[in-house]
Amino acid sequence: MEKKVAIIGAGLAGCECALILARAGLHVVLFEQKPHYHSEAHVSNLFAELVCSNSLRSNELTSGIGLLKQELRDLQSPFMAAADAHAVPADKALAVDRVAFATSLTHAVQQHPLIEVVCAKVTSLSDPRLTSSDIAYVVVAAGPVADNELVADLVRNLGQEACYFYDAIAPIVWTNSLDFQIVFWGSRYQDEEGEIGDYLNCPMTKEEYTRFYEALCAAKTVPARQFEQLKHFEGCMPIEALASRGFKTLAFGPFKPVGFVDPRTHQRPYAIVQLRSENVQQETCNLVGCQTRMLQAEQQRVFRLIPGLANCEFARYGSMHRNTYVNAPLVLDASLALKSTPRVLLAGQITGVEGYVESAACGLWVGQVLAARLLGYTLSQPPKETALGALLGYLQVVQKKFQPSNAHFGLMPALDTKLKKIDRKKAYSERARSAFKTWQQNQRLV
Ligand SMILES: Cc1cc2nc3c(=O)[nH]c(=O)nc-3n(C[C@H](O)[C@H](O)[C@H](O)COP(=O)(O)OP(=O)(O)OC[C@H]3O[C@@H](n4cnc5c(N)ncnc54)[C@H](O)[C@@H]3O)c2cc1C
Repeated sequence: MEKKVAIIGAGLAGCECALILARAGLHVVLFEQKPHYHSEAHVSNLFAELVCSNSLRSNELTSGIGLLKQELRDLQSPFMAAADAHAVPADKALAVDRVAFATSLTHAVQQHPLIEVVCAKVTSLSDPRLTSSDIAYVVVAAGPVADNELVADLVRNLGQEACYFYDAIAPIVWTNSLDFQIVFWGSRYQDEEGEIGDYLNCPMTKEEYTRFYEALCAAKTVPARQFEQLKHFEGCMPIEALASRGFKTLAFGPFKPVGFVDPRTHQRPYAIVQLRSENVQQETCNLVGCQTRMLQAEQQRVFRLIPGLANCEFARYGSMHRNTYVNAPLVLDASLALKSTPRVLLAGQITGVEGYVESAACGLWVGQVLAARLLGYTLSQPPKETALGALLGYLQVVQKKFQPSNAHFGLMPALDTKLKKIDRKKAYSERARSAFKTWQQNQRLV
């Protein structure tokens, strides 16, 4: 009997995965809850719906996301083909006509003779339609606002501690864009002579703190959607919400200066902002406690008021939204299959990647992995120097608190040489293009 792949969710990852498998000549059963049910974020009956902005972000090869798009184009991604075919003017970004884009992918999926679309909600991984003997693999691509019953079943399978439901992301900046005349390494109460300390610290005088505080309180934020009016956990309150409690809340909270002496003044600062390294190379670091709903332009304006951050470059902006995802390094293997149930794979944002393009890339990769397995050949993961390889690699790095990530250069291995910003991006990009070409030439791909 010919084995099929069942996919839950005809979103960005689900459609991409289905079209790749079908291109390989494999049969797919694609379950989509629309038009009977819509999540809080989905409004149309089309598949591959862009739930918010119509921008797929930068198209430039000197950005992580631009590179990822190019790698997807190289792999003949149906998602990218639809996006390029329905692009609208957006300067250096790639934005699309969302209806034309979703319509073309919906038709491609619905009209493909090897894809059977079942308009039904799947509420359990034990559903007999998924466990029947003709189904070889199941791909869960139900997205960040996956149906609650299915999520509850995933929690039962994986354990509560492996599943997250809300994202509170602090911005990440490039370490070499900080002003080291001001910023210093150190840990609280560090007293060992010569000890460097684990954090980068930005000391603030009362005047500097006041300027930052006032800008923060006046900054524009992304409005919360109806379903996002969730109670914030105390430990991951947006910084602007904390600040609104009073002038001193930050200085007594995440910015408390206790245990620090500013090496320049030999005095305790009024407040201190700490930055923690994101990777062992210490190339990027996150602003501790600075999870935020501020608009990106406001994040630039406000966070650059922190002493030492005046010219900082952002690798990733902060954000907060409802987001169901798993602790990928804990529960998924390198092929994105559940370690506990290898016939079930996850794809899209639910794995812990963040963003439209990243979700589609993840769907494409799972499609390639399953095509290789079902057709009996081997496939190796793209190297970490590439955008896709770096993103997939990120899902395997165990962390204290695993948080979703979009594609950016900070996920890639550091460059061997120190370069200026403009040259650095070019160097990352050139290295990635070359690594991707070599990898692609040596793989059998669908
Ligand atoms: C409110 C919001 C705004 C976002 N804005 C942006 C943005 O502007 N830019 C950006 O790059 N990223 C954004 N994202 C993040 C992410 O890129 C998108 O959510 C993206 O659509 C994720 O792709 P996906 O394929 O993983 O899931 P989705 O595209 O959400 O697809 C999941 C599909 O599964 C279906 N489904 C769910 N449960 C079931 C079930 N039990 N049975 C059958 N079908 C089911 C859904 O109906 C849906 O069609 C946003 C996310 C949210 C929640």
